[in-house]
Amino acid sequence: MLNALHTRIIAVMAFLVAVAALSAGVGWVGYMSALDQLEQRGQSDLALASDRLTSELHRYRELAVLMADHPIVAATVDGDATGVAELLRQTADKTGSLDILVVSVAGRELASASGIGAELHRQQPYFTRAMDGALGVFHLVHSRYGQRTFLFASPVFSDAGPVIGAVIVVVDVDAVEAVWRGARPTVFFTDELGVTFISNRSEMVFMAREVGMTTRSATAEYAPDLLRPFMTHSVVDRRGRAVWTVQGQRYVPRAALHLSLPLPVIQMTGEALLDVAPAQLLALLLAGVAAAICLAFGAMLFLATERRRTLADANAKLEGAVQTRTAELSRANAELRHEVGERTATEAQLKKAQSDLVQAGKLSALGQMSAGISHELNQPLMAIRSYAENAESYLERGNTDIAGQNLGRIADLARRMGRIIRNLRSFAKQESEALTDVDLRSVMVAVLEMTQARAKSSGVDIAWTAAETPLIVRGGEVRLQQVVLNLVTNAMDAMEGQKNVARVEIDVEKIDDRVELRVRDTGPGLDEPDRIFDPFYTTKQVNQNAIDQDEVGQNGMGLGLSISYGLVQSFGGMIRGRNHPDGGAIFTVTLDATHPREAAP
Ligand code: ADP
Repeated sequence: MLNALHTRIIAVMAFLVAVAALSAGVGWVGYMSALDQLEQRGQSDLALASDRLTSELHRYRELAVLMADHPIVAATVDGDATGVAELLRQTADKTGSLDILVVSVAGRELASASGIGAELHRQQPYFTRAMDGALGVFHLVHSRYGQRTFLFASPVFSDAGPVIGAVIVVVDVDAVEAVWRGARPTVFFTDELGVTFISNRSEMVFMAREVGMTTRSATAEYAPDLLRPFMTHSVVDRRGRAVWTVQGQRYVPRAALHLSLPLPVIQMTGEALLDVAPAQLLALLLAGVAAAICLAFGAMLFLATERRRTLADANAKLEGAVQTRTAELSRANAELRHEVGERTATEAQLKKAQSDLVQAGKLSALGQMSAGISHELNQPLMAIRSYAENAESYLERGNTDIAGQNLGRIADLARRMGRIIRNLRSFAKQESEALTDVDLRSVMVAVLEMTQARAKSSGVDIAWTAAETPLIVRGGEVRLQQVVLNLVTNAMDAMEGQKNVARVEIDVEKIDDRVELRVRDTGPGLDEPDRIFDPFYTTKQVNQNAIDQDEVGQNGMGLGLSISYGLVQSFGGMIRGRNHPDGGAIFTVTLDATHPREAAP
């Protein structure tokens, strides 16, 4: 978890660094191209300004040359100064020159438009150059005029050839500057020592680029306190362009692209300072836009990644939960299957035990009945024997009719015995067939045949009126016989040895889709009606000699009713036992009725 957080933080930081680098790159490219444009424009502006200055100064330079050829000037140099002062004054006025001087070879002033000064020009570089026959050019802050001046010194040649003097035209730099002061961009012209002499920003004048430049010997005219450094720092790019940081200037940009153009004609260098603030602003803007786009894109990407990560996390959690749940379910399933297996096995055991019990019950019933049965079979046997003996003697006497009647009775008795034995056999058989439609009437007939003998011997009256129509129920015939037989036998057991009337009433009633079979006796009733269906609940004495002593039915196991309960339930029916309000016990068996037509097969 912590690792994932670290990775994310590192990824975000790396992204931010990349965005910063990209934005810086974009900004830099924008800045460079803006500087290119600025440079182009500045170059032409600087060229234009330089042109203006040189052509302006050119006028004075030509004036110096022309004046040197003037006859009055030549005469002045030769010693005749008549009219020269007037000429010089007029010319200076007309041309806007500050002064025009005529100087001898020795450097002494012979004439001047502003009056002759005592200044000696001999040592000055412009003068020596003029004496060499060339045009001397010089600039200085002239103490005589108290301002910046530009000097052009033209040699005056004698007719024979050598230089005999010079004409010096003094130009007022302020007047030249006045025309383009304040124009854009900032342009200034520096001398060979880097001191600004002419500029369209007055604050730039006398400024030196660097501090060291203030120690100047050749131009003592500069007042040292005027010379100040103005450029603090410059950055030069690959293409040699320098961006200066300018300090303390109100009308000069703080950061400016520096351009220069050498002007050998006036022995100066034209320089321009172009404000780079717009270019920087543009670069910043470009960098900002690039950064914003990248950040927006990055944020979207980050959000999408976060979303995906959250989804994946949730998914993983869900899968984990599902796996755990599946494992739990599988375990529960296996346990259930195991339980079901156990239950099935138990059920099978139960079924087996039940069927064993049924069989045991049946055999026990048979055991209880055997005395009655033997009596039942014995009687017809005895009758058959006497009928046979009688038939024999009748035959001896030739009375065949009566002998025939006797034989007919023997046949009837034999049929009756056969029926009894058949009933007993089918009762003893272990029945496991599926449920079928059974007519309760035939069940009753079989039960009555099996109990008739005992009823007769015990003096019990069994009341049963067979219905006209079949009473069909769902069940197993022999099992139903067992249930009813048990109820009738229990009733007879209860009334055994009773003084008052011993009677068993059996009736069957069809109520809607159900058939109710009721067995009621006139005995003492149930001692504990709630317990009669409990297995092994019995109130009867166990007597091993019961059969020998002809006490049929007194040998209780306490299983009869519990087995009957299970059997009736397996038919989907119900068995109840209670005491009748008029005395005695009444048992009710309720079973599903089947329509006689359905039961045809
Ligand atoms: P058993 O007949 O072997 O005792 P049963 O399950 O058939 O076992 O009967 C359980 C008990 O229910 C009997 O011992 C008896 O006390 C009581 N019982 C059943 N039928 C009657 C009845 N008709 N009258 C009185 N008691 C009865």
